[in-house]
Amino acid sequence: MRIFNFSAGPCTLPVEVLEEIRDEIVDYRGAGMSLIEMSHRSPEYGEVHESAVALVRRLLAVPDEHDILLIQGGATMQFGMVPMNLLADGGRGGYIDTGAWASKALADAAHHGDVYTAWSGADGGYTRVPAPEELRVEEGARYLHMTSNETIGGVQHKEWPGVGAPLVADMSSDLMSRPVPWDLLDLAYGGVQKNLAPAGMALVIVRRTVLERAPRRLATYLRYDVHADTDSLHNTPPVFPIYVMEKTLRWIERSGGLAAMEAAADERAGLIYRAIDESEGFYTSPVERASRSNMNVVFRIADNDLEPGFIEEATARGMSGLKGHRSVGGCRASLYNAMPKAGAEALAELMAEFQRRA
Ligand SMILES: *Cc1c(COP(=O)(O)O)cnc(C)c1O
Repeated sequence: MRIFNFSAGPCTLPVEVLEEIRDEIVDYRGAGMSLIEMSHRSPEYGEVHESAVALVRRLLAVPDEHDILLIQGGATMQFGMVPMNLLADGGRGGYIDTGAWASKALADAAHHGDVYTAWSGADGGYTRVPAPEELRVEEGARYLHMTSNETIGGVQHKEWPGVGAPLVADMSSDLMSRPVPWDLLDLAYGGVQKNLAPAGMALVIVRRTVLERAPRRLATYLRYDVHADTDSLHNTPPVFPIYVMEKTLRWIERSGGLAAMEAAADERAGLIYRAIDESEGFYTSPVERASRSNMNVVFRIADNDLEPGFIEEATARGMSGLKGHRSVGGCRASLYNAMPKAGAEALAELMAEFQRRA
């Protein structure tokens, strides 16, 4: 039996994808072995690899000027790889500090390049994203790093700041849920375990001209140009996440592509935000309205003591993963691509009922 999994990551995946994998896992299409046991140079794997990259390009409308890379290590490794590659020959990186993940990206980057805080939401408790005019873009800034969606704080950039410096975006938790304005971006990256696949890999999309400045004095695996020149087959790629991602991407395409994903995300999140707004203060959202995430809805019960009971009741009804991150407390509903509308409806219903009974 499947329950509604509201976990922030690793996340729920489409049942169809899991079933296809189940059917193929022992004997991949008559090969007599599993795809995850096969050489990554085999034609069978090659087809999956190429198809995964082609689907990313098609679904996200990635222009020819950008390369699509599949790199082990998750988003956290990109916190270091970005400055290692982009700031190697000088220049500064500006960081928009919108919360827990942005702060980590900035702290890691400081080990590898000259970085500065272009805006910080720390004083305001990380409850909103900045307006473009609030950003400090320094002369000669090589890039401006943004976290398009803060998974822990539930704060999301609804607009992409076009402020002169090329953007680098950590899109870990809203990857493939919205279109991306590539003209503004030099690089976008994300761990795939929030919307696309199991953990173990980051999807990195980088403007090719950026790679021309790549440093030679880095371990090969850490160089974007090495991954680009070898179609992400410099060494053994993370075969399993790529295999699953390819299926999830085909599911997204069948389901209507990014426009459908975005509309569904707005609808799901809308149900929960409505339950909060209509509760007349019983439930509260710490996030300013214009910055509310449609991927991670963070909320509290005004009487905090009721929260454990609420989580317990949700669990009893087949809704898991609703406990807020340990650093912020409260509740968090992560509503990624594969969360059915019925999941959000069930949660909204419980919220209303729980309030009536309280
Ligand atoms: C989960 C997450 C990360 C970290 O991802 P890993 O793949 O676990 O390293 C970074 N940034 C954001 C926005 C995230 O949601």
